[in-house]
Amino acid sequence: MTTDPVPSPPATHRLFVNGGWREGGDGSYPVVNPSTEQVVGHAPEASAADVEAAVAAAREAFDSWSRTGAAERAAVLNRVADALLARNDEFVPLLQAETGATIRVASSMQVPVAAERFRRYARGALEAAVTPLAPYPVAATPLAAGGLTSAVAVRRPVGVVGCITSYNFPIVNLAGKLAPALAMGNTVVAKPAPQDPLGCLKLGEVFEDAGAPPGIFNVVTGSGAATGAALVASAEVDMISFTGSTAVGRRIAADGGHTMKRMLLELGGKGAGIVLEDADLRTAVPAIGSAWAFHSGQICTAPTRALVHESRYEEVVAGLARYAAALAVGDPLSPSTVVGPVITALHRDRIESYIAGAAAEGARLVAGGTRKEHTADSPALPGTGFYVAPTLLAEVTPGMAVAREEVFGPVVVVIPFRDEEEAVAIANATDFGLYDYVFSADTARAYALAARLRTGNVGINTAQRHPETPFGGFKQSGVGRDGGSYGLSAYSELQSLVWQS
Ligand code: NAD
Repeated sequence: MTTDPVPSPPATHRLFVNGGWREGGDGSYPVVNPSTEQVVGHAPEASAADVEAAVAAAREAFDSWSRTGAAERAAVLNRVADALLARNDEFVPLLQAETGATIRVASSMQVPVAAERFRRYARGALEAAVTPLAPYPVAATPLAAGGLTSAVAVRRPVGVVGCITSYNFPIVNLAGKLAPALAMGNTVVAKPAPQDPLGCLKLGEVFEDAGAPPGIFNVVTGSGAATGAALVASAEVDMISFTGSTAVGRRIAADGGHTMKRMLLELGGKGAGIVLEDADLRTAVPAIGSAWAFHSGQICTAPTRALVHESRYEEVVAGLARYAAALAVGDPLSPSTVVGPVITALHRDRIESYIAGAAAEGARLVAGGTRKEHTADSPALPGTGFYVAPTLLAEVTPGMAVAREEVFGPVVVVIPFRDEEEAVAIANATDFGLYDYVFSADTARAYALAARLRTGNVGINTAQRHPETPFGGFKQSGVGRDGGSYGLSAYSELQSLVWQS
């Protein structure tokens, strides 16, 4: 007789500090699968002493890592990419379970994208860090003799970087900071999001496999704000690179100001998808529909506000309604599922309250709006989990909360406009400015319109990305840019060297 194997209890994970592993000084807390509601594992609850030890390790490692040759830094980053890919089969189930991502997103957009970031910045370590400046003839001054003066501007590492990240793409978000920071010779203390930190902790194993010097990468975790706040407060941390909400970003900017920290802040968004009267809806509808179809709308850059020329309004609403209805919501492990759960019950409730608030303010619910649970009509849904149906709200006005605030879930609002002037005014009428989109058959017109959008990024007839572009936000969507070679600048201080020959 065979018996089912007894499932092993969820593991208690450890902090990665100075190239070794330690228990959380304040114990541990459960990390919950957003679909099954089962405990995936226990994450360490870092104590103040743990954070201090991680910062001290990064500080200690900085001197030698910042003086390590670029070729060696590149080699370490390439070995990290190799080691991560070699552990793909361990990472994918863990990341899937803790994020609730569909198996397609979990397998194609976590490990390969993170590995590519390490590879990109292995090349980045080799990029020129010195900018020659034109010789300058200066007259004699009480300071020094006159003559032809030469200078260069050199990018130097900032020092110890605290990387505080959001939950939506845990190791990808972290790799986007860690890789350029290390390429430039900085050392890092990472503080992943509390909801899904286990893959980020596991990156410690990857750094061990890669033979990376101890202390260049450390990970501390905690269930509340205290762990990240300790990094922001530490006088030994030179820079905070933060991805998360604008509310927390504001707090970090204020708290970090006391020690004059360098800041890279990647914050919230409320993307406008402007559909001009000549737009091809075969392009515009799926691009806007990505706000539902990609990671349950938990994407900062999603076009969650469809601004539509009044002549195409009903057509776009109908097209989006059909698109929403065709998206399979269900168990993220099923290959046919497109929309999985959102991260927590709390977040689902928050999304639902935005939908209810919009309906109360007079918006028309065209699709979704209901809690998705396992019923005879929805057999694909497990009996557990935090599901929100793709939701489409029409008759939305720009002043409604759902049109101004970030929902960070599968919710799209449609707002009509009369002319370009009004489209621009509505698009710019939020505190955010991260990513807008313009859909038009006339790309020259779309290009000109982009100049009037107060936003860091504009997609013209596409929701596709270009990884080398500077990425960041205008207004309260953030401060600074990363992406491609801009990522190297983000983790650099500029030093001027001047001489007379
Ligand atoms: P969040 O702001 O709630 O948390 C982000 C991180 O900040 C977490 O690690 C959290 O523990 C930490 N934190 C909380 N309070 C802190 C404090 N006082 N000091 C230091 N750290 C603190 O964000 P979230 O819910 O994890 O992620 C969703 C948000 O992230 C959305 O607003 C989304 O737009 C944004 N986001 C932005 C980008 C971008 O590139 N602009 C990318 C992904 C997500």
